[in-house]
Amino acid sequence: MSNNLPLLAFIDAIKESINAHADEIAQLDQAIGDGDHLINLQRGIEALLKNIEELEQLEFSAALSKIGMTLMSTMGGASGSLFGSMFVTMGKTAKDKTLDVTGMTEIFTAGVESIKARGKADIGEKTMLDSLIPACETLKQDVTTNQDLTVTVTNLKQAAEKGMLSTEAMVATKGRASFLGERARGHIDAGARTSQLIISVIADEVINIHNEN
Ligand code: ADP
Ligand code: MG
Repeated sequence: MSNNLPLLAFIDAIKESINAHADEIAQLDQAIGDGDHLINLQRGIEALLKNIEELEQLEFSAALSKIGMTLMSTMGGASGSLFGSMFVTMGKTAKDKTLDVTGMTEIFTAGVESIKARGKADIGEKTMLDSLIPACETLKQDVTTNQDLTVTVTNLKQAAEKGMLSTEAMVATKGRASFLGERARGHIDAGARTSQLIISVIADEVINIHNEN
Protein backbone atom coordinates (compact mmCIF):
# COMPACT_ATOMS: atom_id res chain seq x y z
CA MET A 1 0.00 0.00 0.00
CA SER A 2 1.18 3.56 -0.54
CA ASN A 3 -0.15 6.91 0.62
CA ASN A 4 -0.78 8.41 -2.85
CA LEU A 5 0.76 11.65 -1.66
CA PRO A 6 3.60 13.25 -3.60
CA LEU A 7 5.73 13.29 -0.44
CA LEU A 8 8.91 13.96 -2.37
CA ALA A 9 7.35 17.06 -3.94
CA PHE A 10 6.16 18.27 -0.51
CA ILE A 11 9.51 17.76 1.19
CA ASP A 12 11.45 19.19 -1.75
CA ALA A 13 9.25 22.29 -1.71
CA ILE A 14 9.81 22.70 2.05
CA LYS A 15 13.55 22.28 1.57
CA GLU A 16 13.55 24.92 -1.16
CA SER A 17 11.65 27.40 0.98
CA ILE A 18 13.86 26.85 4.02
CA ASN A 19 16.98 27.23 1.86
CA ALA A 20 15.60 30.40 0.26
CA HIS A 21 15.22 31.89 3.76
CA ALA A 22 18.34 30.28 5.24
CA ASP A 23 20.21 33.46 6.23
CA GLU A 24 17.13 34.97 7.82
CA ILE A 25 16.34 31.79 9.84
CA ALA A 26 19.94 31.41 11.01
CA GLN A 27 20.02 35.03 12.12
CA LEU A 28 16.75 34.74 14.04
CA ASP A 29 18.07 31.86 16.16
CA GLN A 30 21.46 33.59 16.50
CA ALA A 31 19.74 36.71 17.87
CA ILE A 32 17.79 35.07 20.71
CA GLY A 33 18.79 31.39 20.66
CA ASP A 34 21.96 29.43 19.99
CA GLY A 35 21.94 29.70 16.20
CA ASP A 36 21.38 26.05 15.29
CA HIS A 37 17.72 26.02 14.26
CA LEU A 38 18.44 26.24 10.52
CA ILE A 39 20.98 23.40 10.63
CA ASN A 40 18.69 21.25 12.78
CA LEU A 41 15.86 21.67 10.32
CA GLN A 42 18.04 21.07 7.27
CA ARG A 43 19.42 17.92 8.91
CA GLY A 44 15.87 16.67 9.50
CA ILE A 45 14.83 17.41 5.92
CA GLU A 46 17.87 15.59 4.50
CA ALA A 47 17.10 12.55 6.69
CA LEU A 48 13.54 12.49 5.30
CA LEU A 49 14.82 12.74 1.72
CA LYS A 50 17.21 9.89 2.37
CA ASN A 51 14.25 7.70 3.38
CA ILE A 52 11.89 9.04 0.73
CA GLU A 53 11.38 5.76 -1.14
CA GLU A 54 10.38 3.94 2.04
CA LEU A 55 8.16 6.85 3.12
CA GLU A 56 6.33 6.87 -0.20
CA GLN A 57 5.59 3.14 0.16
CA LEU A 58 3.94 3.50 3.55
CA GLU A 59 0.29 4.21 4.03
CA PHE A 60 -0.52 7.69 5.31
CA SER A 61 -0.55 7.17 9.10
CA ALA A 62 2.60 5.02 9.02
CA ALA A 63 4.35 7.61 6.83
CA LEU A 64 3.55 10.38 9.33
CA SER A 65 4.82 8.26 12.23
CA LYS A 66 8.01 7.40 10.36
CA ILE A 67 8.56 11.09 9.54
CA GLY A 68 8.15 11.89 13.24
CA MET A 69 10.56 9.19 14.40
CA THR A 70 13.10 10.25 11.77
CA LEU A 71 12.90 13.89 12.86
CA MET A 72 13.19 12.91 16.53
CA SER A 73 16.30 10.84 15.95
CA THR A 74 18.11 13.14 13.51
CA MET A 75 17.17 16.80 13.93
CA GLY A 76 18.29 17.57 17.45
CA GLY A 77 17.36 20.68 19.40
CA ALA A 78 14.06 21.46 21.05
CA SER A 79 12.50 21.75 17.60
CA GLY A 80 13.54 18.19 16.68
CA SER A 81 11.71 16.65 19.60
CA LEU A 82 8.71 18.96 19.16
CA PHE A 83 8.27 18.49 15.39
CA GLY A 84 9.04 14.78 15.89
CA SER A 85 6.37 14.42 18.54
CA MET A 86 3.92 16.33 16.34
CA PHE A 87 4.32 13.92 13.43
CA VAL A 88 4.29 10.77 15.60
CA THR A 89 1.03 11.99 17.15
CA MET A 90 -0.41 12.89 13.74
CA GLY A 91 0.47 9.36 12.58
CA LYS A 92 -1.36 7.81 15.51
CA THR A 93 -4.36 10.07 15.00
CA ALA A 94 -4.51 9.39 11.25
CA LYS A 95 -5.08 5.67 11.83
CA ASP A 96 -8.82 5.98 12.43
CA LYS A 97 -9.57 9.08 10.35
CA THR A 98 -11.10 9.61 6.95
CA LEU A 99 -8.52 11.56 5.00
CA ASP A 100 -10.80 14.37 3.88
CA VAL A 101 -10.42 18.01 4.92
CA THR A 102 -12.19 17.33 8.26
CA GLY A 103 -9.96 14.35 9.03
CA MET A 104 -6.82 16.27 8.03
CA THR A 105 -7.85 19.13 10.32
CA GLU A 106 -8.33 16.71 13.24
CA ILE A 107 -4.92 15.19 12.53
CA PHE A 108 -3.25 18.62 12.42
CA THR A 109 -5.04 19.66 15.62
CA ALA A 110 -3.77 16.56 17.45
CA GLY A 111 -0.25 17.39 16.23
CA VAL A 112 -0.41 20.95 17.55
CA GLU A 113 -1.82 19.67 20.87
CA SER A 114 1.14 17.31 21.20
CA ILE A 115 3.59 20.22 20.84
CA LYS A 116 1.68 22.12 23.52
CA ALA A 117 1.89 19.09 25.82
CA ARG A 118 5.52 18.24 25.13
CA GLY A 119 6.74 21.85 25.22
CA LYS A 120 4.47 22.73 28.16
CA ALA A 121 3.68 25.86 26.19
CA ASP A 122 0.78 27.75 24.70
CA ILE A 123 0.08 30.76 22.52
CA GLY A 124 1.87 33.98 23.50
CA GLU A 125 5.13 32.41 24.73
CA LYS A 126 7.17 33.35 21.61
CA THR A 127 7.53 29.89 20.09
CA MET A 128 6.50 27.92 17.02
CA LEU A 129 3.09 27.58 18.68
CA ASP A 130 2.39 31.24 17.87
CA SER A 131 2.25 30.26 14.19
CA LEU A 132 0.73 26.80 14.66
CA ILE A 133 -2.13 27.57 17.08
CA PRO A 134 -3.69 30.49 15.11
CA ALA A 135 -3.28 28.47 11.89
CA CYS A 136 -5.03 25.52 13.48
CA GLU A 137 -7.85 27.60 15.00
CA THR A 138 -8.52 29.36 11.68
CA LEU A 139 -8.50 26.04 9.84
CA LYS A 140 -10.94 24.46 12.31
CA GLN A 141 -13.30 27.40 11.95
CA ASP A 142 -13.24 27.38 8.14
CA VAL A 143 -13.69 23.63 7.94
CA THR A 144 -16.62 23.71 10.39
CA THR A 145 -18.32 26.39 8.28
CA ASN A 146 -17.60 24.52 5.02
CA GLN A 147 -15.58 27.37 3.63
CA ASP A 148 -14.29 27.05 0.05
CA LEU A 149 -10.90 25.28 -0.05
CA THR A 150 -9.02 28.16 -1.69
CA VAL A 151 -10.34 30.59 0.92
CA THR A 152 -9.55 28.11 3.71
CA VAL A 153 -5.98 27.74 2.55
CA THR A 154 -5.52 31.50 2.11
CA ASN A 155 -6.87 32.12 5.62
CA LEU A 156 -4.61 29.39 7.01
CA LYS A 157 -1.54 31.00 5.48
CA GLN A 158 -2.53 34.46 6.69
CA ALA A 159 -3.20 33.25 10.25
CA ALA A 160 0.22 31.58 10.42
CA GLU A 161 1.92 34.69 9.09
CA LYS A 162 0.12 37.01 11.49
CA GLY A 163 0.98 34.68 14.38
CA MET A 164 4.63 34.49 13.32
CA LEU A 165 4.86 38.29 13.13
CA SER A 166 3.21 38.61 16.57
CA THR A 167 6.23 36.94 18.19
CA GLU A 168 8.37 40.01 17.47
CA ALA A 169 6.74 42.05 20.24
CA MET A 170 6.77 39.21 22.78
CA VAL A 171 9.14 38.24 25.55
CA ALA A 172 9.74 34.50 25.64
CA THR A 173 8.58 32.34 28.52
CA LYS A 174 9.70 29.02 26.95
CA GLY A 175 12.85 27.88 25.17
CA ARG A 176 16.31 29.44 25.14
CA ALA A 177 14.98 32.94 24.39
CA SER A 178 13.31 32.91 27.82
CA PHE A 179 16.76 33.36 29.40
CA LEU A 180 17.02 36.78 27.72
CA GLY A 181 14.00 38.42 29.32
CA GLU A 182 13.26 41.80 27.78
CA ARG A 183 16.20 41.46 25.36
CA ALA A 184 14.21 38.92 23.33
CA ARG A 185 11.67 41.58 22.40
CA GLY A 186 12.09 42.96 18.88
CA HIS A 187 13.05 39.62 17.31
CA ILE A 188 10.79 37.13 15.56
CA ASP A 189 11.05 33.59 16.95
CA ALA A 190 12.95 31.26 14.61
CA GLY A 191 10.62 28.29 15.12
CA ALA A 192 7.57 30.47 14.52
CA ARG A 193 9.13 31.59 11.23
CA THR A 194 10.03 28.09 10.02
CA SER A 195 6.63 26.67 11.06
CA GLN A 196 4.93 29.48 9.14
CA LEU A 197 7.09 28.85 6.07
CA ILE A 198 6.29 25.11 6.20
CA ILE A 199 2.54 25.78 6.57
CA SER A 200 2.70 28.14 3.61
CA VAL A 201 4.46 25.57 1.40
CA ILE A 202 2.05 22.78 2.33
CA ALA A 203 -0.91 25.10 1.69
CA ASP A 204 0.43 25.98 -1.78
CA GLU A 205 1.05 22.30 -2.59
CA VAL A 206 -2.49 21.39 -1.51
CA ILE A 207 -3.90 24.06 -3.85
CA ASN A 208 -1.67 22.80 -6.70
CA ILE A 209 -2.98 19.26 -6.22
CA HIS A 210 -6.56 20.54 -5.96
CA ASN A 211 -6.22 22.55 -9.20
CA GLU A 212 -4.72 19.61 -11.05
CA ASN A 213 -7.66 17.34 -10.17
P1 ADP B 1 17.17 24.65 20.60
O1 ADP B 1 16.30 25.70 21.22
O2 ADP B 1 17.30 23.44 21.45
O3 ADP B 1 18.46 25.21 20.12
P2 ADP B 1 16.11 24.85 17.90
O4 ADP B 1 16.99 26.04 17.74
O5 ADP B 1 16.16 23.87 16.79
O6 ADP B 1 16.36 24.14 19.28
O7 ADP B 1 14.61 25.32 17.99
C1 ADP B 1 14.26 26.48 18.70
C2 ADP B 1 12.76 26.74 18.51
O8 ADP B 1 12.02 25.74 19.21
C3 ADP B 1 12.34 28.05 19.11
O9 ADP B 1 12.52 29.09 18.16
C4 ADP B 1 10.88 27.81 19.46
O10 ADP B 1 10.03 28.12 18.37
C5 ADP B 1 10.81 26.32 19.67
N1 ADP B 1 10.66 25.98 21.09
C6 ADP B 1 11.62 25.94 22.05
N2 ADP B 1 11.10 25.55 23.24
C7 ADP B 1 9.77 25.35 23.03
C8 ADP B 1 8.66 24.93 23.85
N3 ADP B 1 8.82 24.63 25.14
N4 ADP B 1 7.44 24.84 23.27
C9 ADP B 1 7.26 25.10 21.97
N5 ADP B 1 8.27 25.49 21.14
C10 ADP B 1 9.49 25.63 21.66
MG1 MG C 1 18.66 26.73 18.64
